Amino acid sequence: MVTGANTGIGQGIALSVGRAGARVIGVGRSAMDETAALLQGVGAEFVEMRADLGSTAAAQTMFEAAWVEHGPIDGLVNNAGIIKRVDAVDFTEADWDAVMDINLKTMFFLCQSLGKRAIAAGRGARIVNISSMLSFQGGVRVASYTASKSGVLGITRLLANEWAAKGINVNSIAPGYIETNNTEALRADPDRSASILGRIPAGRWGVPSDIGDAAVFLLSRAANYMHGAVIPVDGGWLAR
Ligand code: NAP
Repeated sequence: MVTGANTGIGQGIALSVGRAGARVIGVGRSAMDETAALLQGVGAEFVEMRADLGSTAAAQTMFEAAWVEHGPIDGLVNNAGIIKRVDAVDFTEADWDAVMDINLKTMFFLCQSLGKRAIAAGRGARIVNISSMLSFQGGVRVASYTASKSGVLGITRLLANEWAAKGINVNSIAPGYIETNNTEALRADPDRSASILGRIPAGRWGVPSDIGDAAVFLLSRAANYMHGAVIPVDGGWLAR
C-alpha cells in the first residue's frame, strides 16, 4: 500500500514496487489514472483506494476496507504529505494542524492499523515512512513541516522498538530535493534553486524513481535485519 500514489514520489514508489512484482494498492484523494496506466505498462496489478488522509478516521476506515477487500497487506509506504511555506512570525495554527495531521498523525495511525492487523494475524510486515532532509535540519519558513518530519523519524524508531521482535520492519527514507509538485516553488525561484543545486554533490535534483528503488529495497527480504533505520536518498546533500 502506497499513500499519495497519484503523483510525485508516491507514483515513483508505486511504479518501482509494481515493477518488482508486487500488487500495489494506491491510496489518495485524487484520481490515479496516470499511475494505473504506468503500472499496467509494467504488467503490475494496481488497486485504487480513495481517502482524504487529512482525516485519521477516513484513513483508518480506508485501511480496514483495503485489508478486507484486498489484504492481507504486506507493506505500507506512508508517503502522502504536504508543506506550508510561511515565515515563522506569520505561521497560523491552521497551517500547523493541516501539515501535522497528514504528515505525522495519519502516518502514525496507518502504521497502527497495519501493526494491529499483522500482529493479530501473526504475520510479518514492512513499513516505510517518508521523512525528509528536514528530519535532520531546521529548514526555513516551514515550521510545521520540520516538526512533522522530525516526528516521523521518532515514530519510526519507536515503532521499530515495539515491533521488531514481531517481524514488523519499520524504517524510513529521507529524500533529498526531488522534482515533484512539492518542490515546484523552490525550483521556480532562481536563487533558491541555484543554491540548492550547488550543494548537491550528484549535481542534479532527484527524481521519483530514485526513491522508489530505495523503497523496493526496504520492502524486500534484503532488508530483513533493518529496523528503525533511515536511508537518506539525497544525491549526497547530507554529506556536504
Ligand atoms: P507531491 O507531488 O505534492 O505529492 C504529495 C502526495 O500526497 C500527493 O499524492 C497528494 O495527493 C498526497 N496528499 C496530500 N494531501 C493529501 C490528503 N489530504 N489526502 C490524501 N492524499 C494527500 O509531493 P512529493 O514530493 O511527491 O511528496 C511525497 C512525500 O515525500 C511527502 O511526504 C513529502 O513531504 C516527502 N518529501 C518530498 C521531497 C521532495 O523534494 N519532493 C523531499 C523530502 C520529502 P494530491 O495530488 O491529491 O494532493
